[in-house]
Amino acid sequence: MRYISTRGDATPRAFCDILLEGLAPDGGLYLPHHYPQIDAATLARWRGLSYADLAFEILSLYIDDIPAPDLRAIVDATYTEAVFGTPEITPLKAIGDGLWLQALSNGPTLAFKDMALQLLGNLFEYELERRGEVLNILGATSGDTGSAAEYALRGKPMLRVFMLSPHGRMSPFQQAQMYSLQDANIHNIAIEGVFDDCQDIVKAVSNDLDFKRRHRIGAVNSINWARLLAQVVYYFAGYFQATSRAPNLGSASVPPEGAASPWGGPAATANDESVSFTVPTGNFGNICAGHVARMMGLPIRRLVAATNENDVLDEFFRTGTYRVRGSTETHETSSPSMDISKASNFERFIFDLLGRDGARVRAKFGERIEREGAFSLDAASRAKLPSFGFASGRSTHADRIATIRDLYKSRGVMIDPHTADGVKVAREHLEPGVPMIVLETAQPAKFAATIVEALGIEPPRPAAQAGIEALPRRVVVLPASVDAVKRCIEPDMA
Ligand SMILES: *Cc1c(COP(=O)(O)O)cnc(C)c1O
Repeated sequence: MRYISTRGDATPRAFCDILLEGLAPDGGLYLPHHYPQIDAATLARWRGLSYADLAFEILSLYIDDIPAPDLRAIVDATYTEAVFGTPEITPLKAIGDGLWLQALSNGPTLAFKDMALQLLGNLFEYELERRGEVLNILGATSGDTGSAAEYALRGKPMLRVFMLSPHGRMSPFQQAQMYSLQDANIHNIAIEGVFDDCQDIVKAVSNDLDFKRRHRIGAVNSINWARLLAQVVYYFAGYFQATSRAPNLGSASVPPEGAASPWGGPAATANDESVSFTVPTGNFGNICAGHVARMMGLPIRRLVAATNENDVLDEFFRTGTYRVRGSTETHETSSPSMDISKASNFERFIFDLLGRDGARVRAKFGERIEREGAFSLDAASRAKLPSFGFASGRSTHADRIATIRDLYKSRGVMIDPHTADGVKVAREHLEPGVPMIVLETAQPAKFAATIVEALGIEPPRPAAQAGIEALPRRVVVLPASVDAVKRCIEPDMA
């Protein structure tokens, strides 16, 4: 498989070439040259596979420059019960009315980012060892990405992580999760500023090409293709569980005794074997993986993007106009990992929607957004939009609280605020006979304040995270200064 840029650069690149890179040289995002097609026979064969075996099959279609035994070893070491808590890795749970929750947050940092970053860490380690190189990862985080990256890269000697976070602004749990890491290769830098200041510093350092080259600076941000690819796997795993009465991927897929089958009785309909997904969405990374799975032929009926008050994507799917917002127009909400007003992965979908024409994406989307801050679909593209299966909805703080309360009262199931946005919007898109799978993106323990507001009780915490606030911390506090951060990176290179 070769990779191309969404802005038209068609220089063919292999998977390992783009693994350690960010944007393509022309400013676009990398996508595979085409989407391998999965036929019914292959789908039937994959149904019985373990999560790691399924991941190997899917990754193999996109990676041909890592020998198969090595790729298998990487995948087997990544998707284990020890790391993700259950043998199913992403178990499904019925929550009534044809709705299912697919758990993606049982990894080490309790958010779905672990699903991809645990794999990325092992792929980076493999490729850097093969090349005999080292890499410094510089990133900015408002919470979930930074911790997932640190837990994926800790203890890997060829990688050093410099993670900037806004001083005092993450939840106490998120701070403790990152700052308590004692690994020598993990460097927490708390910046006296907000998340945007952290991100600006990362951009400034990355734009200093000389510094970047001398210090071998890389990134693990959400536009990385390998992250997206890792996420494609759980759409297949969710589909198999929701459409299977045989408990091959876990008995959780069997409806509770006496309950009506959520996908309808024996009456066969056109939808008999298709499912829908609702995805709490910020940077469009998670749901973009669903788009890729659907393009490969996975029978996904609807891909529903659920936003919070920052509803740029809901607006697009309703109106055909994509209008990015500035930081002053970005609301701070109680589902903070979705407080995003420019979805960094969205261009990948636009590339497919505009017929994979890189010149059109550059002129009609990229340049127009830089110039005018907005982009509207032409009539022909608008007419094509429904064939991609997307739908959308929006959720507010009041919706979040009500949904957390309702699900806890009616089913005894506690969900985090981001997943609550998903459940709220999913309920507006239910169709008879079509299982609706909501991707659970974080555990409630990560966002205790909102849970206490909704339910009046503290969320339970996995044993591994008990008392982490009391652990010694390893973090330096720096002013919001590019030079201060550079000085912090430099001595480490000696
Ligand atoms: C990152 C994140 C999201 C948003 O995912 P995108 O891939 O950016 O759309 C939603 N919920 C949680 C808990 C997250 O950490």
